[in-house]
Amino acid sequence: MSKPVIWMVIPCYNEEEALPETARRLKDVLAEMVAADKISPDSRIAFVDDGSRDGTWELIEKLYAADFVYAGVKLSRNRGHQNALLAGLMTVKEHCDAAISMDADLQDDVNAIPKMVDEYINGADIVYGVRSSRSTDTAFKRGSAHAFYNTMRRMGVETIPDHADFRLMDKRALEALDEYKEVNLFLRGIVPTLGYKCAVVEYERGERIAGESKYPLKKMIGLAADGITSFSIKPIRLALLLGALAVLTGFVMFIVCLCTLPAPDWLWISAAVWFVGGLQLGMTGVVGEYVGKTYMESKHRPRYLLDKVLIRENDK
Ligand code: UDP
Ligand code: MG
Repeated sequence: MSKPVIWMVIPCYNEEEALPETARRLKDVLAEMVAADKISPDSRIAFVDDGSRDGTWELIEKLYAADFVYAGVKLSRNRGHQNALLAGLMTVKEHCDAAISMDADLQDDVNAIPKMVDEYINGADIVYGVRSSRSTDTAFKRGSAHAFYNTMRRMGVETIPDHADFRLMDKRALEALDEYKEVNLFLRGIVPTLGYKCAVVEYERGERIAGESKYPLKKMIGLAADGITSFSIKPIRLALLLGALAVLTGFVMFIVCLCTLPAPDWLWISAAVWFVGGLQLGMTGVVGEYVGKTYMESKHRPRYLLDKVLIRENDK
């Protein structure tokens, strides 16, 4: 069997400080795997420049000119990590058997890459890199990350805890991802919904090798909000639920009024306030349900993806 062609996809935003070292290390890892006859010599490393303002693109151009193992894609402007990653994956999908996405700052352990490829060779379509500890993260990042995964689960979004975007996806998983037409992109939520055979490789997450985090708190909150609102309409249901509770409260108060005749005026009035207020909130929730459904429909997500088909060629 011919060896698989593996492409690395590295989104880069203002990464001129980290890029040279990252490029070197990734090249070494690929070269080792080629030497061990594990992967094809046609394997490549593609950097996606997400509209950087520093010299990142010039560096990518230099790498491309100097060595055939490097490739580059430049977005027209900064579109954010998730979009940059998708752009890279969709661009390389035609050229590779499997693509591995990884951050440019080497926080993800390059030694996990050969293990991911092993899992792929053993039959996995998707391999998740999961960090075994968060000892290098600040207490705040650790706490906020756990709160985030918990909230996601409660909202009914399937995610792999402690997995960011360090993962291998083979060609058919990439083709399936291409069927998701939504604009608000949260890859960590979409990939687990693809199904297919998956595996996990654990790794220790290290420190950023150079430069500063390109994910300030504001972007992190944005990502979390996107993650929840693009997969769940539960926040809308909350209005319906609260409205129903308020109506019930008003109703109980009316009963109390009727039982304690003559009830004081304020009790009648507050019963009416609860009842009418609840009715309005509840009706907003009902409208929200339909808006939510329309929103979900408007994504045109595939309703299913086939894994295997057993039909003979001549069974027409
Ligand atoms: N990144 C990007 N576009 C952005 C922000 C970040 O492509 O708008 C890239 C960045 O270059 C890096 C990866 O996304 O390769 C993760 O960013 P970072 O390491 O800064 O995030 P952190 O590890 O601090 O969460
Ligand atoms: Mg990082």
